[in-house]
Amino acid sequence: MSSEIQLSLFNEESNFAQKELIPTDAKIPVPPGTYTNLTELAQHCNQCQRCELGSTRTHAVVGRGNLKAPIMIIGEAPGQNEDETGLPFVGRSGQLLDKILASVNLTTEQDVYIANINKCRPPNNRVPTPNEMAACLPYLLEQIRLVDPKIILLTGATAVKGLTGDKRGITKIRGQWLEWAGRLCMPIFHPSYLLRNPSKEPNSPKWLMWQDIQTVRAKYDEIRTSN
Ligand code: SF4
Repeated sequence: MSSEIQLSLFNEESNFAQKELIPTDAKIPVPPGTYTNLTELAQHCNQCQRCELGSTRTHAVVGRGNLKAPIMIIGEAPGQNEDETGLPFVGRSGQLLDKILASVNLTTEQDVYIANINKCRPPNNRVPTPNEMAACLPYLLEQIRLVDPKIILLTGATAVKGLTGDKRGITKIRGQWLEWAGRLCMPIFHPSYLLRNPSKEPNSPKWLMWQDIQTVRAKYDEIRTSN
């Protein structure tokens, strides 16, 4: 074995030895394979102080839905309802998201797992800072590894930026398939944006969302029949 390989093994072991320190400091790496299940990950998130959002949260909001879902939806960060309940997308936005999914026969019991870029609520629902997103990203990467979805939907520009680094506006890229880390991703509008834009006229945000969710359903069916 070369000394380089021996050294890298040593590093990996030392990372795992620091596992209990992960929630304490954003500089502690989170190597792939750190968590064997989402319960372990949630325990870390609920004691985490890797960024300042940890000091004001009521509950860390990790995820809801089928833990082995073929579709994963990733939002920005919890709001007040989510902070209080510990579940993502449970307010008006969440109800609309569930309706959108139901319109193409998708459910969180079977097909979908929902998570956020940041697990803790930013004060006054502000957008998480780049440092806060970077501090929380390793947890999300572990969630994606454990759920192993075939399709990832990113709701809104912050979710796209937080996961892929793509800074383009959501109206430019929504409805397009992107490849990230070998996975099929689609940016879509955030349901809260649809609540602020209720028109259903052709080319309105709601109308575009209806096109996008049908495209997602068709791709999901295609993947299922090819497997
Ligand atoms: S937002 Fe993420 S990184 Fe920041 S304290 Fe909460 S769990 Fe930790």
